[in-house]
Amino acid sequence: LTSVRYNVQRGDFARISSEDVAVFEKLLPGRVIADPEELVGYNTDWLRMCRGNSKLLLRPKTTEEVSEIVKYCNSRNLAVMPQGGNTGLVGGSVPVFDEIIISTSLMNKIVSVDEISGTLVCQAGCVLEALNTHLSDIGLMMPLDLGAKGSCQIGGNISTNAGGLRLMRYGSLHGSVLGLEVVQADGTILDCLSTLRKDNTGYDLKQLFIGSEGTLGIITAVSILCPRKPQSINLAILGVSNFENCLKALKEAKGMLGEILSAFEFMDSPCIDLVRSNLKLSNPISDKPFYVLIETAGSNGTHDEEKLNLFLEKVLGEGIVEDGTVATDSTKIQSIWSIRERLAEALLHDGYVYKYDISLPLANFYDLVVDMRERVDDSATRVVAYGHLGDGNLHLNITSPAYDHDLLDKIEPFIYEWTSRYKGSISAEHGLGFKKKDFIHFSKTQNAVELMQQIKDLMDPKGILNPYKMLPEKYGD
Ligand code: FAD
Repeated sequence: LTSVRYNVQRGDFARISSEDVAVFEKLLPGRVIADPEELVGYNTDWLRMCRGNSKLLLRPKTTEEVSEIVKYCNSRNLAVMPQGGNTGLVGGSVPVFDEIIISTSLMNKIVSVDEISGTLVCQAGCVLEALNTHLSDIGLMMPLDLGAKGSCQIGGNISTNAGGLRLMRYGSLHGSVLGLEVVQADGTILDCLSTLRKDNTGYDLKQLFIGSEGTLGIITAVSILCPRKPQSINLAILGVSNFENCLKALKEAKGMLGEILSAFEFMDSPCIDLVRSNLKLSNPISDKPFYVLIETAGSNGTHDEEKLNLFLEKVLGEGIVEDGTVATDSTKIQSIWSIRERLAEALLHDGYVYKYDISLPLANFYDLVVDMRERVDDSATRVVAYGHLGDGNLHLNITSPAYDHDLLDKIEPFIYEWTSRYKGSISAEHGLGFKKKDFIHFSKTQNAVELMQQIKDLMDPKGILNPYKMLPEKYGD
């Protein structure tokens, strides 16, 4: 179990009694799961590296039900853990001990869509891809996209402040989320479900819940601003001989593609070796040390193509890029995107994955990968780097056949010290969850962490909401 490897103590919470189960069964008839077999999946994270020991899963359908559950748990001092699609990558989405899992999966109703303003209001358990499909029929799309779209839920996305492939163009959820409805630790329903674009009346409370990983409240409904679906999409995969030229290509893309540039992703050559050997995917262009994926999304296909062609002529002509192909039809676009989107899945086939999600200034971005390769040498199966280069976000992954403590000692705290030296962030978009919470000091000052702890104490005095996550060990002392 996770708690054993990480040496964490269970907090001073009550243990579930048969009376508690009876209360929940009355409140949620047929939606209380206590069968250990059925609970295995909910207790285990996507990476299959963290595993809790919850004895109870609750499946509310309404905000009022969530409120009743949390109110009861608070009064009984029972710890709870909100769970969406369970695709989180930092051990935040599974219990550590026996926290009650509150799953939002049945809270999947779309409340309204305003076609003109682009405002979507829905329950927190709607799956990202399902929302996108729904919006697509009326010419809109979600402002975020990520590889986990088929399972992750909008409530989970907002709780982790997920970034993903479209952040470069549409910005972070701190900008596109217009309102939230949240159940607080004592069961109070906080209605901040505004649909307004502009609303400067007092503190912007919803921002506190975006990226707070279920530690301050349970998001039950969201209001989010959705852009128009583009009329034309192009995707180019380009081969590049060195990292410096990847940065030159980014600069040119920003200048020449400007308002139609919707994604700029990068992968190094071990990424292609990885998907080739573990997923049998093939490289659509010739092998190169680096690859960039450039997506354009615009309102006029002819204009977009013209811009993209001028860009390609320039970067190929100047030797910034050495090879490439452009996809305009959706099947080919999808097959190129799947190389990038399935990297996380491909890594799992190696055995154990040491996963890092770092923000760095672009000038130092790839130096970390070079230093890490040298440091771990042949004790790792591979060191693979990819990420959202347009946002300065590096995904650095190291694999080995099984968990290896000596290898972990080579990686940590080296990687965090390195990142801190260059004023980067030790978690760009995945959050801190359970696995990274004790490293927060590498990216935040003591004063900032203390203020976070005061906010947590104020909003959840008993510490029942997703304990052992996000903030360094304190709760349950
Ligand atoms: P979960 O994993 O269930 O939960 C995540 C956290 O949010 C937990 O702490 C949980 O307690 C909390 N939580 C969930 N729902 C609620 C709620 N309603 N109220 C309060 N707290 C809640 N992330 C990125 O940022 N960018 C990427 O490009 C990206 N790509 C990914 C690709 C793959 C293949 C995978 C597996 C993951 C990827 N992720 C990425 C990780 C990302 O954090 C999650 O996929 C997603 O945002 C989590 O949503 P979820 O519904 O699965 O939440």
